[in-house]
Amino acid sequence: MSSSLVSVAYIGAIILFILSLGGLSNPESSRRGNLYGMVGMLLAVLATVFGPRVTMDGLPWILGALLVGGSVGLYAARKVQMTQMPELVALMHSMVGLAACLVGFANYIDPTAALNLSSAEKAIHEIEVYLGILIGAVTFSGSLIAFGKLSGKIGGKPLLLPGRHWLNLLGLLIVIVSGYQFLHAETIHMGMLALAVMTVIALLFGIHMVMAIGGADMPVVVSMLNSYSGWAAAATGFMLNNDLLIVTGALVGSSGAILSYIMCRAMNRNFISVIAGGFGTGGGSPAKSGGDAQPEGEVVPISAAETAELLDSAKSVIIVPGYGMAVAQAQHAVNELTQLLREKGVNVRFGIHPVAGRMPGHMNVLLAEAKVPYDIVMEMDEVNADFPDTDVAIVIGANDIVNPAAQEVPGSPIAGMPVLEVWKARTSIVMKRSMASGYAGVENPLFYKENNRMLFGDAKKVIEEVIKSLQH
Ligand code: NDP
Repeated sequence: MSSSLVSVAYIGAIILFILSLGGLSNPESSRRGNLYGMVGMLLAVLATVFGPRVTMDGLPWILGALLVGGSVGLYAARKVQMTQMPELVALMHSMVGLAACLVGFANYIDPTAALNLSSAEKAIHEIEVYLGILIGAVTFSGSLIAFGKLSGKIGGKPLLLPGRHWLNLLGLLIVIVSGYQFLHAETIHMGMLALAVMTVIALLFGIHMVMAIGGADMPVVVSMLNSYSGWAAAATGFMLNNDLLIVTGALVGSSGAILSYIMCRAMNRNFISVIAGGFGTGGGSPAKSGGDAQPEGEVVPISAAETAELLDSAKSVIIVPGYGMAVAQAQHAVNELTQLLREKGVNVRFGIHPVAGRMPGHMNVLLAEAKVPYDIVMEMDEVNADFPDTDVAIVIGANDIVNPAAQEVPGSPIAGMPVLEVWKARTSIVMKRSMASGYAGVENPLFYKENNRMLFGDAKKVIEEVIKSLQH
């Protein structure tokens, strides 16, 4: 394939990636968006592999790597449960970071990489290598810790080391000094030493940054790491002189940054303090999960049959799904219940919190999969004012996103986070298996409110029971 044909293919791929991002912004067009992305990626890989920069000797290596990587990806995608998706995404971000590091090191020791470059070009090339490895290492270790936190292998409590801001500052100084030594290194060995020191610091910084995040702030970190992985890919593009990788990385990096901003707004966190590494953990105390902060009031359980009775006489219902709906795989049962109620003339709508579940858009994906009509799926801001005029608010496996402590308990780790005000409905019914706290580990006063009822059990099972009772 000639280089001009490769350029045309790259431009085609870039257009497809942009169309893909546009498509993914709406559930109705997201399938098409995914398709654009897949075709774009196929075009990009084919043009690169069969382009002029890959020699015949290199081809078997690339095809072998494609086979191994493709098989692992296919296996993981087929095996992964919907609830494990966020962890898989975090793991994939870590791979992008690792790739950027490895490409950076390989590029530095490759004797041909800086051949025929003027001293200014060589300096720019070395800065690219240094920054690429720096971003890659932070993304790699940070994403691995995020993977651990999302999968529950590492606890959600923030690790607040004494003097942690000073530690970060010290790390930054070492990175700057190592960068100076790297750029002025007289031998490859000295350069490698400076690179290795910086890499260790960057890896430690990635670990420290994500370990310091409290449970409820994780969505911001996940989208930040998404953004970092994009910049790591862009840095790899600079190192390899690959325009497509630069543009694609920049697209991922900037869309991740926009998503982080949206997440910050949803969590009522300050974007600048997030960028600076504050993440709002300074103000709140570590999450409590014990009974020492137990709210006043009584927990009143309700049966599936009683729930059905309440729903039968309701005129308006708002359903608030959360992470538990994903765990129980209850979305199809939820859709069936919705249809049944709508056939009875009940006005049913969904209230979606921006950080419900474990990844952005988690609930929208599940509801779309179950074919819940898009026009009744509302964002938090669209329904919050309607709760006082709602007969029944059904909370399905959600906890933190409906926690009134965000408004009522000033010292709470989730204080100030906007929540769905389900307690303002005439009756709220919470479906969950126990009194356990949510991801942030915070006690939920909603369960003790006078107009709240608890329908204990697996969400899918209890919804099916409610449907049965409604049909009789
Ligand atoms: P939560 O994690 O707060 O609560 C989920 C609830 O679901 C639990 O209390 C659990 O209670 C219940 N549950 C679990 N399994 C089942 C089941 N099979 N049937 C019924 N209930 C079940 O989820 P929310 O969606 O309310 O809030 C999301 C939280 O996750 C926020 O704190 C957010 O910051 C965080 N987060 C979000 C990310 C995102 O991008 N969206 C990323 C990372 C974190 P029980 O065990 O008693 O059943």
